[in-house]
Amino acid sequence: MEEQRSVFDIAHPEAGKELYDVVIVGGGPAGASAAMYAARGRLKTLVVDKAPNSGALAITHKIANYPGVRGEVTGLELLERMRWQAADFGAVFVHATVQGVYVEGGAKEVFTPDAVYRGRTLIVATGAMDRGRKLPGEERFEGRGVSYCATCDAAFYQGAEVAVLGDNEEALEESLVLTKFAAKVHLVIPGKQILGVPEGEALPEKPNLEYHFQTRPVEVIGGDSVEGVVVRRPDGGQTTIAASGVFLYLSGSRPSTEFLRGALPLTPEGYLVADEGMETPVPGVFAAGDVRRSPVKQAVIAAADGALAAISADRFINNRPKLVAQR
Ligand SMILES: Cc1cc2nc3c(=O)[nH]c(=O)nc-3n(C[C@H](O)[C@H](O)[C@H](O)COP(=O)(O)OP(=O)(O)OC[C@H]3O[C@@H](n4cnc5c(N)ncnc54)[C@H](O)[C@@H]3O)c2cc1C
Repeated sequence: MEEQRSVFDIAHPEAGKELYDVVIVGGGPAGASAAMYAARGRLKTLVVDKAPNSGALAITHKIANYPGVRGEVTGLELLERMRWQAADFGAVFVHATVQGVYVEGGAKEVFTPDAVYRGRTLIVATGAMDRGRKLPGEERFEGRGVSYCATCDAAFYQGAEVAVLGDNEEALEESLVLTKFAAKVHLVIPGKQILGVPEGEALPEKPNLEYHFQTRPVEVIGGDSVEGVVVRRPDGGQTTIAASGVFLYLSGSRPSTEFLRGALPLTPEGYLVADEGMETPVPGVFAAGDVRRSPVKQAVIAAADGALAAISADRFINNRPKLVAQR
């Protein structure tokens, strides 16, 4: 059955060469719904997602309040249906981390480690699973051993011992990238499982990869550069994992907008603000779902936001008046 494959398994090597009508960052219910509306409206549509199994809906075990879906399904099942529906209308999905955007020009640019994607409009649908607080020592060693992108920085750690801190699929994937360079990779996981990896599913085995479950990172330590991470073990005892590089992918409940800083206005909490048509103060840039300052965070609301954002993007591209409520 097609739904057993992910839309992200389809390769699109030329995606970086195209100019899309709509580039959507985030493939949760907001992004997938936007993609479905945009693609069905014959807009050339691209969705970029960094960890398709780790968004808020993807990690929801059972969802029973999504209209039209009777009984209980897992969040990921529901999400895959939405994504395939969008893909059936022509939307393209790529798996990549967006690290920055440029929204001043006619074409909006979306930067990932391997490619720059370009769209006439941009929809930000990255959810709200970022961390609030930094770890002690993290800020001090940023750029001197603390990194947020193994894909970008792994080559600097050839033969070294490194630690990856995270509880999600992205942390796992980035650890696997690091195993190709580092002598030893410690994946430090605060909980009992990796979000997005079903319980009981076998984790990849590599001779130089060690999993540390139920181990909480406490502090990044070092002198001129990183020397290790202090962690709390399941028995409550503290110990230090030696590492010259520390890669952070911990989840929380703050809007995922770090990559937008300086490019788009954010609230003090980091949310995007959008009008009733989901347009941000920057023309042609839209926000949808949990990343938007909104009173309720639910899958159905994220999906509705995505639909509105896509309709607004269509109007923007075709020079039609903005969406407004009837007077
Ligand atoms: C445990 C839990 C249970 C819930 N239960 C329910 C429920 O029963 N019913 C309900 O209606 N709602 C529920 N919710 C809320 C619902 O899941 C969210 O409101 C909804 O998923 C928000 O959709 P979204 O698309 O905005 O964000 P998300 O679903 O979080 O998707 C965001 C996507 O953006 C991607 N992304 C983030 N940053 C980047 C980046 N820099 N580059 C590329 N991609 C990026 C992520 O990988 C992710 O796939 C629950 C939430 C949680 C956490």
